Amino acid sequence: LTAEAQNVLDRIEEENVDFLRLQFTDILGTVKNVSVPAEQAEKAFEEGIYFDGSSIEGFVRIQESDMRLIPDPDTFAILPWRKEAEGGASARLICDVVTTEGEPFEGGPRQVLKSVLDEAEEMGYTVSIGPEPEFFLFEKDEEGNATTEPHDNGGYFDLAPKDLASDIRREIIYALEEMGFEIEASHHEVAEGQHEINFKYDDALTAADNIATFRSVVRAVAEQHDVHATFMPKPIGEINGSGMHSHISLFDEDGNAFANDDDEFNLSETAYQFMGGILNHAQAFTAVTNPTVNSYKRLVPGYEAPVYVAWSGVNRSALIRVPDAAGVSARFEIRSPDPSCNPYLALAAVIKSGLEGIENDADPGEPVREDIYEFDEEKREEYGITTLPGNLGEAVAALEEDEVVQEGLGEHVSEKFAEAKRQEFAEYKTYVSGWEEDRYLEKF
Ligand code: GLU
Ligand code: MG
Ligand code: MG
Repeated sequence: LTAEAQNVLDRIEEENVDFLRLQFTDILGTVKNVSVPAEQAEKAFEEGIYFDGSSIEGFVRIQESDMRLIPDPDTFAILPWRKEAEGGASARLICDVVTTEGEPFEGGPRQVLKSVLDEAEEMGYTVSIGPEPEFFLFEKDEEGNATTEPHDNGGYFDLAPKDLASDIRREIIYALEEMGFEIEASHHEVAEGQHEINFKYDDALTAADNIATFRSVVRAVAEQHDVHATFMPKPIGEINGSGMHSHISLFDEDGNAFANDDDEFNLSETAYQFMGGILNHAQAFTAVTNPTVNSYKRLVPGYEAPVYVAWSGVNRSALIRVPDAAGVSARFEIRSPDPSCNPYLALAAVIKSGLEGIENDADPGEPVREDIYEFDEEKREEYGITTLPGNLGEAVAALEEDEVVQEGLGEHVSEKFAEAKRQEFAEYKTYVSGWEEDRYLEKF
């Protein structure tokens, strides 16, 4: 056993942990969970825990279904809301998926991200990500089903009593802190019932683990208060949706490789190349960063979500915004991802695009200094600004055209992912909505 694994065994003993939840995600980003008695921990670290991969979305065919989960000891955390449970505490461990032969499984999202990060490391970089997932808290109805009735009617940075949810938010924060998160800030977002909690940036793999954990903690704590938390990108049509902006920087042995104090935006050549790569592959990775039919209802003008493939110092309508920061904090923010994405695949696709930009000296062009929401088509053309895909179908088609992003995801995941999403969009296309009934049924 490694020292880290031994340390986990000690903590299981000390903190009276009875059950371990071994977690991993399928290609759609849904957290899967196998619960084992804590006595199995040693075996789990040494040889892994077997499970049937064929029942996991996007994994394998029935005839090659035996897979193993190997827990990553760095991810050990006791579940705060199970602490007082009868019999003892529960803890979770995030796992890597390996084949029966012990090879890393190329269809596991965490493995996909690790491979892209290995590539970054070969180029001399570690990647740092600061995600900002937004979410809504909604009331439940008498039967306990989720509604779209906001839990409060506060607005941006409002305080109690309007911000009824601040108690829930505080408890979410306590739970996250107990699980090892460093919380920097939390606030009521622009829309009614909408919130944001910012946790500290971290290396990309930890950041992806953190996003997955964050979503389960928010849901679990909201559930305890009989409120429904959702990361659906656009639950209500006429107000802001929920994004998951991600702040990015690369570090090399000299420090922040994105920093250049002599530049107007405090960014280095490397940062601009990385940004150029992101802009070049944005059409394709959107299928991954914005993977639901509903995601595209957020990416429309007027709600602080990006629509245009461009970068800017201030503008919230551009895909990339450069915050006013320098030196060790020099970075930029990609604004398109939404919190319904699989965080491992989304970061893998974005980072792969950026690395390719560095390799091929990509040029992000000039920043846009005006509000692009106000531009007409002619002006956009003059600036060379394209738009993000308008729906999931277009996004999947763009993914299928882009070899770089496909390579970042690996063949297995690219294929399975595109297949699942094509099917999702096909289903949606034949669905007749309430809007259509209201609009047309009596008119024609
Ligand atoms: N909720 C907005 C979005 O859809 C972002 C608001 C903000 O700038 O934080 O991305
Ligand atoms: Mg926000
Ligand atoms: Mg932001």
